[in-house]
Amino acid sequence: MIEKCLLASTEISSLEVINQTTVATAVSEMGSLKVSRLIVTDPNGAAIYDSLSENNAQGKYVLFPEIVQAMKGNDVFSWTYRNGIMNSCAATPITSYGRLLGCVYIMEQDTAQGALIDSLQQNIFVITLILELAVILFSLVFSSAITNRLRRFMVSMRIIREGDYAHKVNMGGHDELTVLGDEFNELTQKLHDSEQKRRQFVSDASHELKTPLASIKLLTDSILQNDMDVDTVHEFVEDIGNEADRLNRMSQKLLSLSRLESQADSDYEIVYLAPTVEKVVRMLSAIAKEHDIQIQVNLNDDAPILIQEDDLYQIIFNLTENGIKYNREGGSLYISVHRDADNAVLQVADTGVGIPEDSVNHIFERFYRVDKARSRKSGGSGLGLSIVRSLVERNRGEIKVESELGKGTAFTLAFPVFDTEEVDK
Ligand code: ADP
Repeated sequence: MIEKCLLASTEISSLEVINQTTVATAVSEMGSLKVSRLIVTDPNGAAIYDSLSENNAQGKYVLFPEIVQAMKGNDVFSWTYRNGIMNSCAATPITSYGRLLGCVYIMEQDTAQGALIDSLQQNIFVITLILELAVILFSLVFSSAITNRLRRFMVSMRIIREGDYAHKVNMGGHDELTVLGDEFNELTQKLHDSEQKRRQFVSDASHELKTPLASIKLLTDSILQNDMDVDTVHEFVEDIGNEADRLNRMSQKLLSLSRLESQADSDYEIVYLAPTVEKVVRMLSAIAKEHDIQIQVNLNDDAPILIQEDDLYQIIFNLTENGIKYNREGGSLYISVHRDADNAVLQVADTGVGIPEDSVNHIFERFYRVDKARSRKSGGSGLGLSIVRSLVERNRGEIKVESELGKGTAFTLAFPVFDTEEVDK
């Protein structure tokens, strides 16, 4: 367009006189221009020639923006699109030896390009519409997928809240919700395990309590129903007393077990093992004497440890009591204390019945007894060693057992030495 304009400007600038007639002649000679409208103005913007109205245009000011720009010496091109028609306009100044003689303005109307733009606009509109619909659809699908998974999660939570701890959440996918589901499953697995332990404990405990209660019932029924002599009644009442004692001991141990689980760590003291060993031996020496068992202690290489003293007493008491209970008449019990590198080591070894190999791994379980009859006779509940193990672990210690059937059993405990000198440094 600008080239056409420049061509017309050059032609017109070469005219000797610029008026409507000379311009009209020059324009008709430039047959190749083929534009919809051509205007030629003087330097003030007044029309000299207008191809649309050749006779009436003269002298009228045509101050189109393009013409105003061209009068300032610029070559201008612009286009507009309206109602399927593309209007392209161009204007250039007419100069001769640097003097502005006027300007040429041409305009072309193109319906083919207009149709092209029209269809392009329609296509863009359709594509935008499809994209918008796709975005809306995608957000709906996506949000409903998340809502579905969250709903599944809520349903699982409700099931678990109602007590089905074995239930597992299945979130599917590989995103944060999946991780959340896995964490939740781990949590419920822990709940499930502890619930099972609790149930096992309650059932074991009630089973253990049932036996002495059944004996008491049997003994009282026998006394009431039979015509017994005083000596037999006396004997039966003594048995009832023994069963009651057993129940008492068992409930005390159950109490200390539950206290052990709920009690927070507190009151740690720096203590030596020897004084507590001596205290326990003093307490149990009468029973040992009764069974003709000799207790030998060696407490020369003692070391301080950080422990709750009541726990230490309970540990040594249970092990020493077992060493007497599961010993043979005339047997021995050795209790020694020594230091081994960073550990204070306590050993309680007896010359008793020993523990069968397949039972050694079970003796720390609650209510486990190798020989139920013997244990019951000696007042056992199967709880002593499980209490010992919990107490040892709570005080950062370790416990090991070695046993040989018919020869004896040795329990070895190690607690980290609490060196006050090192702390002082
Ligand atoms: P109990 O109250 O029956 O003694 P424990 O938990 O103290 O319960 O011990 C569990 C079982 O381990 C006992 O029933 C017994 O069979 C066995 N046991 C424990 N200590 C000894 C030991 N020093 N010698 C032989 N067997 C032992």
